[in-house]
Amino acid sequence: MRKSAAGFLVAFTCIVLIGAGSQDPRLQKAYRFQQGGWTYVHLEGSPADVGFQHGYLLAPEISDAFEAIKLFDVHESNRDWEFFRTTAKQALWPHIDAEYQQELQGIADGVQAHGIKLDVWDIVALNAFEEVPDYYLPWLNKQNKVAKNPKLVAPGNCSAFIATGSMTKDHQIVIAHNNWTSYLAGERWVIIFDIQPEHGNRILMDGFPGVITSDDDFGVNSAGIMITETTMTQFEGWDPNGKPEFMRSRKAMQYANSIADYVRIITNGNNGGYANDWLIGDRKTGEIAYLELGLKNWWLGGPTKDGYFVSSNFPRNVGVIRDETSGFDPNDLSSSPNARHARWEELMQQSRGKIDVTMAEQFLSDHGDSFEKKEQANERALCGHVDASPRGVKQWGWDAYNPGGAVQGKATDSAMASKMSFAARAGHPCGADFLSDRFLEQHPEYSWQKPLLRDMKAGPWTTFTAGQKQ
Ligand SMILES: [Zn+2]
Repeated sequence: MRKSAAGFLVAFTCIVLIGAGSQDPRLQKAYRFQQGGWTYVHLEGSPADVGFQHGYLLAPEISDAFEAIKLFDVHESNRDWEFFRTTAKQALWPHIDAEYQQELQGIADGVQAHGIKLDVWDIVALNAFEEVPDYYLPWLNKQNKVAKNPKLVAPGNCSAFIATGSMTKDHQIVIAHNNWTSYLAGERWVIIFDIQPEHGNRILMDGFPGVITSDDDFGVNSAGIMITETTMTQFEGWDPNGKPEFMRSRKAMQYANSIADYVRIITNGNNGGYANDWLIGDRKTGEIAYLELGLKNWWLGGPTKDGYFVSSNFPRNVGVIRDETSGFDPNDLSSSPNARHARWEELMQQSRGKIDVTMAEQFLSDHGDSFEKKEQANERALCGHVDASPRGVKQWGWDAYNPGGAVQGKATDSAMASKMSFAARAGHPCGADFLSDRFLEQHPEYSWQKPLLRDMKAGPWTTFTAGQKQ
């Protein structure tokens, strides 16, 4: 009985898939296939065509992901979905470049051609699912003197590192990232996008159905740029005149030919939304850099040809911590961001000169708790399992046993990036499965997620390359 809603959705989307069968000329160059728990899509052409292909080919996944995000956002914010649609139309759309407006409209056209009733405002709101609930809305509530909803705080998404020079086995760049989020969103964050746009560079990135940027941000482009990020815990700030983060991050991935380009594009029109620490590499030069992008303060580490940067949701710049967080404490070594920071440093020191993609995959699967000095899958492990933690992560508003943590991982190096390639694993990077029925029996306080929370089973590490057909 309890599964009936999810079962219905799957049945419904299958019927829609079979029923469509359109041979629209816009779809000619596009295709999809599934591998290792991921859905790979190749998109190619004008912004409108890339959008249409995205919407059409991923219509079932977009419909399903949309319901999950809607359920989550409405529950956490106490606002109805119409609020998110209105925000998309009035606060975000005017600040989106024409190229990406066309792509977003294309996604809406594509899903509609598949019989799914979502319009462009639903799609824009979906694209902003990181920045509106946790950045714009807290700012808006403050402006309007609405009592702050404690659940609405910047998320702590991800563990990542980038290394080069004497740190790595071949002295070139290695970069890796695991995505931390709710399992509700994370079990759907399993798209590989191979985008060949009309303008700019080709992109290979992981991503979320219906969203034009990677959004947990891991990708490589055909100019040799390799990027990832982690968010800054307890960040607060929003500029209503800025450009949405989901557009700036996509634009930087598409148009950057150098680290300097990337920094210029991502900072242009910074709105403070989804404020991240960016790890950026350029395989052409072997250089890496770290951009801590607050709204009032930024800090750029590097570029350097020798060294590493680790990242796990801890702001490091004094100005950012002081002016732009609600009291982030870098000295609380028991907190998830700081415990993972310490573990990253241990791993980097142990691994000098040895780091390669295989080792990076092991790092992403690591369960070392640096605070309690033991192996344990919990909120302090690089491979996060907050559902196993009686502490939760209070800095993110994650209560005890919150069903969230590391939901997938990716790793690559300069040699793979030169072929537009990376390795990816769906589900917990350590390979453990999350089983929703068992979890909800033990933790009925999360039963509101029951209609859409499902098992998150880990796939194998799988290599994806731009242009591959299956
Ligand atoms: Zn794990």
